[in-house]
Amino acid sequence: MPDAPQLLHQIPDLDVITAPAQLAKLSLDYFHFSPILEPQLREKRADVVVRPTTEPQFYQIAAIARQTQTPITVRGSGTGNYGQCIPLQGGIIVDLSNYNEILWIHDGIARVQAGVKLAELERQSRPMGWEWRMVPSTVRSATIGGFIAGGSGGIGSVRYGQLRDRGNLHAVKVLTLEEEPRIMELRGYDAVQQVVHAYGTNGIILELEVPLAPAITWLEWVVSFADFWHAVHFAQTLGKSDGIQTRLISVHADPIPTFFTPLRSHLSPGHAAVLLILAVSDQEAVIDLIEQFGGWCSFTQTAPAPGKGGSLMEFSWNHTTLHARSADAQWTYLQSLFPADPEFRVMRQMAEMFGDEVPLHLEFIRQNGTLIPAAIQLVRFTTGDRLQEIIAIHEAHGVLIANPHTYLLEAGGMKTVDRAQLQFKRLVDPQGLMNPGKMAAWND
Ligand SMILES: Cc1cc2nc3c(=O)[nH]c(=O)nc-3n(C[C@H](O)[C@H](O)[C@H](O)COP(=O)(O)OP(=O)(O)OC[C@H]3O[C@@H](n4cnc5c(N)ncnc54)[C@H](O)[C@@H]3O)c2cc1C
Repeated sequence: MPDAPQLLHQIPDLDVITAPAQLAKLSLDYFHFSPILEPQLREKRADVVVRPTTEPQFYQIAAIARQTQTPITVRGSGTGNYGQCIPLQGGIIVDLSNYNEILWIHDGIARVQAGVKLAELERQSRPMGWEWRMVPSTVRSATIGGFIAGGSGGIGSVRYGQLRDRGNLHAVKVLTLEEEPRIMELRGYDAVQQVVHAYGTNGIILELEVPLAPAITWLEWVVSFADFWHAVHFAQTLGKSDGIQTRLISVHADPIPTFFTPLRSHLSPGHAAVLLILAVSDQEAVIDLIEQFGGWCSFTQTAPAPGKGGSLMEFSWNHTTLHARSADAQWTYLQSLFPADPEFRVMRQMAEMFGDEVPLHLEFIRQNGTLIPAAIQLVRFTTGDRLQEIIAIHEAHGVLIANPHTYLLEAGGMKTVDRAQLQFKRLVDPQGLMNPGKMAAWND
């Protein structure tokens, strides 16, 4: 019987890739941010990559996977950090980068194919008066499907919360891997949560309906502070100021700003920096606040057009880790949520305990109506045991760690088995062919 690559070659007009160099490139993501994941995943390869452009091609790929019992791993742009799109058991990678049509935009809602780039949606919706609610700092390269299936939040989360929050995703169209693959439209909060942040383990997302936000003219500022805690209190007060519109409040302890090479001439060693994206209409109120907290503006620009480089977004969220690793590859990171506390007591304890080993990088986000500091701290890596100890100490102090050093869905941010996602997988992927090895509850 012919194998999966041979059968895939028979699908009319389908782009099928089997060249080893391309397979290597398209099998990996940014897993190397983690010194724990790096040795576990670097050799993993798909047997074949396909780039479908039509729904019938997706059906045929799913049918071939079923027939030949071949695993399928879906890929957007491969910018995930935990090996989410790395095929642990080889098989077929379905790369959605050519499935990228914006189907419609109206009344503040967009219907898109899953391979649409986030920046492209913003580029096309802006002239109509709309913009994205939240994007990862990889906005220029990441796909919308990849963000929903593998991401959590980002620039915009200070106002709109995270992807999982009610209202941030209206509907998804999913292709199943049942005996007869079929398309399902999931609408409403509970239905869509079955596939949000499920790492593509329970269906191929083909289309999404996402709400947009009214477009705003944004400014991008770097505000410097001699004292980190002044910077943190400024950031908190700004985030809680309901009359001031912000898209990003990103706080960096020394020495992190020194890793931002393109901004170096605007930043001084020894200072903390707050990266801000704020509405042009609210700048006077922000200046007022900066003065109150003893800060000063060390860099300002108008936000670059969507898809263009040079935005401060690309120093925030996990881009901070990227810049640190460019300066010194020994840096790795944690992802955490500190308890909401106006005095930052636990954060101060952690800062005192770990000092230069774990410099603080905060991203303020809204969660269930409350402003909280999420943190993507840098960690100067020494050993796996020490990393585990740092995580355990944080957890013992009530800090929630979404461990970025595991490819298992439940061991990362989820913490517990998501019964609805597991139930949905039983229905739509009864043979466990989708991204096998990533959902621990299924493995068990
Ligand atoms: C420097 C850097 C900065 C980052 N900043 C952020 C950030 O600010 N916020 C954030 O949330 N993340 C961030 N990330 C992680 C990542 O970039 C985002 O989550 C991004 O949205 C992933 O999109 P992608 O198209 O690259 O998805 P991929 O990495 O290709 O895929 C992600 C996961 O989704 C699955 N998937 C992809 N498409 C589909 C589909 N159509 N159907 C079903 N499953 C699918 C894949 O199998 C995989 O499990 C960052 C990563 C890096 C390297």
